[in-house]
Amino acid sequence: MRPKEFEFLVDAIKSLPSVGSKAAERIAYHLIHQDQQYVDEFIKRITNAKNNIKFCKQCGNFAIDDLCTICSNPERDNSKLCIVNTIDELNKIESTGSFNGIYFVLNDEINVKAKKKIDSEIIKKLMNYCAVKDFKEIIIATNLTVNGEATNIYLNKLLKDILPACVTYKLAIGLPVNSALDYADENTLKFAIKNKTKI
Ligand SMILES: [Zn+2]
Repeated sequence: MRPKEFEFLVDAIKSLPSVGSKAAERIAYHLIHQDQQYVDEFIKRITNAKNNIKFCKQCGNFAIDDLCTICSNPERDNSKLCIVNTIDELNKIESTGSFNGIYFVLNDEINVKAKKKIDSEIIKKLMNYCAVKDFKEIIIATNLTVNGEATNIYLNKLLKDILPACVTYKLAIGLPVNSALDYADENTLKFAIKNKTKI
């Protein structure tokens, strides 16, 4: 029988995204075989990150002040919004230089298989944001996966209700179907933004 402390550790690791039972056990065995200094440093880095990293109050990007460098930049076009799943994807779109609007980071998506909806607080924040900003164009840049597509359809319906005059887009094909944006190369992503299609 395994000690309950070990089971608790496995449970905690299993709660991380994309970590299944087997991987969680492997990581738990790995961690408990490390020396004390490694474990202390690991915990310190998590605590430091949690205590010191701030997020933009408007879009959810990393920030130093209340707003990130994109939201506080007067040169950005505030009539255009791009909804992304993660900060990494925001940075990836930024690096293509083909979008001059502002963003919203969802940090969540529908999980079709697990029948999981998007956190209602995130949806509320997005809807408030859209109502205040009155966007003219919104790109819903969710992943081209089953979950990403379901998220796209759901958000599009909500956005049409509160901003009927707004034109919504999805990324163009060019991205491999069944792919996460994070894995797309820069040129493919550039093409997908440039040739975005109306929903
Ligand atoms: Zn921001």
